[in-house]
Amino acid sequence: MPKVKIDDILANYDKNKLTIATVCSHSSLQIFDGAKKEGFRTLGISVGKVKKFYDAFPLGKPDEFFSVDKYKDIIKHAKKLQEKNVIIIPHGSFVEYLGANNFLRLNLPTFGNRKVLMWESDRKKEKQWLEGAGLTMPRQIKDPRKIDNPVIVKYHGAKGGKGFFVAKTYEEFKKRVDKSKPYFIQEFVMGTRYYLHYFYSPIQNNAYKLSKGSLQLLSMDRRDETTIDEVQRLGSIAELEEIGIHPTFVVTGNIPIVIRESLLPKVFKMGEAVVEKSLKLFGGVLGSFCLETVVTEDLEFRVFEISARIVAGTNPYITGSPYSDLIEPNLSTGRRIAQEIKYANKKNLLHEILS
Ligand code: AMP
Repeated sequence: MPKVKIDDILANYDKNKLTIATVCSHSSLQIFDGAKKEGFRTLGISVGKVKKFYDAFPLGKPDEFFSVDKYKDIIKHAKKLQEKNVIIIPHGSFVEYLGANNFLRLNLPTFGNRKVLMWESDRKKEKQWLEGAGLTMPRQIKDPRKIDNPVIVKYHGAKGGKGFFVAKTYEEFKKRVDKSKPYFIQEFVMGTRYYLHYFYSPIQNNAYKLSKGSLQLLSMDRRDETTIDEVQRLGSIAELEEIGIHPTFVVTGNIPIVIRESLLPKVFKMGEAVVEKSLKLFGGVLGSFCLETVVTEDLEFRVFEISARIVAGTNPYITGSPYSDLIEPNLSTGRRIAQEIKYANKKNLLHEILS
């Protein structure tokens, strides 16, 4: 969507009555709580019936609900939402369920740079971006007959790791693969997983300085994935596979974690390189993004994915993380997003952080 339209919409907004909105799912409690703490009105877009659990969390409950029958209807109601001076905070589920094309033509100011979607959703482009930034990604195996080490087979567009499987040989791969779906094969990186939550501000210079603006590290998590993360309660994976039980990688939750302090310089170098490259490629990955990594026994990072918006792994930190506590107390990613919008509004820079 051409940027100019967003500028037109913004020009008609009452800047004293901005409303922070998102779809009621994923990290919405945190987004609403953070926005309220910064003094914004909040609006929850509910797909289907309003979920009852919001009543149990008054601080995370939006001031107003806006119900639609299905995700795609949000597009139709853009005008009504504009009248409420809505700024959309897109989260993983929002983009996933609305669909990339609909998200791109959503006629509402949206936090972050929508152009990033092309670069993260296309495997080739993602590789061009991340490897172009000097990051090391897991090796890709083009010919399954060449599998000589453990690999992970991923289906395109699979939600939350669904259907992914591990194979150690070509025979195993052949037995398990569903060739009716597009897939790709990646080296299974041995090590420990860290999901790093960054925040890049192109308009504030009060953190780790970049060529334009600055970078923060707000938190990190490890995803909890069923069944792989607890399958060993029943026996070793090899034993279980012999009787036809295969581990799966479906995300069910998130666990807080910190990394060895001596690895922080590498963490920042990676974040810096990803932002600098994004500025050159498409105008920048603005706001929150997450690098999904494995740290090997040589203490090297392999990055297997980037998510270019708030991730659900930030949810353990509604009252702050061991990292954001060193920036300011009670700073969640949701609150940091609200702060960025507040600051940009005050300085007349909303066009720099919205698209
Ligand atoms: P993804 O959908 O790419 O985030 O992957 C889902 C899950 O599979 C991750 O959270 C990891 O637990 C695991 N995973 C993905 N890629 C790799 C890899 N190359 N090596 C080891 N584990 C991986």
